[in-house]
Amino acid sequence: MDAYTDGIVLKQTKILNGRRMVTLFTRDYGKIGAGTNIAGTGRGKSPLAVRPFTFGHYGLKKGRSAWHINGAEVSRSFYRIAEDADKFINCSYVLEFTEKLLPEELPAPELFALTLEYFDMMEHRRKKFDSITVVFLFKAIDIWGAAPELEKCALCGSIPVERVYFGVRDGGIVCGACRDALRDAENLHDSRGDRLLYPLDFGILNVMCYFLERPLRDFEHLALDEPVLLALKRIVKEHAAWHLGIGGLNSEEFLAAF
Ligand SMILES: [Zn+2]
Repeated sequence: MDAYTDGIVLKQTKILNGRRMVTLFTRDYGKIGAGTNIAGTGRGKSPLAVRPFTFGHYGLKKGRSAWHINGAEVSRSFYRIAEDADKFINCSYVLEFTEKLLPEELPAPELFALTLEYFDMMEHRRKKFDSITVVFLFKAIDIWGAAPELEKCALCGSIPVERVYFGVRDGGIVCGACRDALRDAENLHDSRGDRLLYPLDFGILNVMCYFLERPLRDFEHLALDEPVLLALKRIVKEHAAWHLGIGGLNSEEFLAAF
């Protein structure tokens, strides 16, 4: 089968005899692993087309079991991402997170569009890169149908008024009464003793709700304060690890300050 589709290069690894394996997030087929003879290094447009962060148009062939990239054309290279170390860390984290989130060969056009939009916004941004990255992460998880419950207590369904907590294991916010009941049962930790339920500021809760309601583009000028950023990174990291099994990424420097 021959196919042509747009794609974003998530990863590239060398295999034998100059051949490379490219993990491509395609618009039409979702994430695929494809072999190619296109040289991955050197000058010119072809090597660029199979490098991470490139958005391109790919000519693919599917054999009995494996995909092969026959031709590749760069649409956008997002080369400015590498100009700033902090920007690069953020973008690398997003690529790796997306790679872990996607199963093989399941089209995810909404996430594809979000990822492209994220890189477009990051390319032009000069500071506070993490602010956009946390919005991306919340929105990506939401597209995947795995967003935390933020409107009502994940345990009893009531709307918290005076106190609110975030329950990692519970998958969302927890009201004061439910938290007190769990405390009495000493059920606030996992088997390793990690605290999985902690107080949440109503302001931070509102920020998360806003992330899920509005399109990514609306956050073009968002610059979150450090304490808010840290709280949001913690929530998204723990939620993704517990509910989606995404953790231990190579590019976790993004979360280093947490
Ligand atoms: Zn409750």
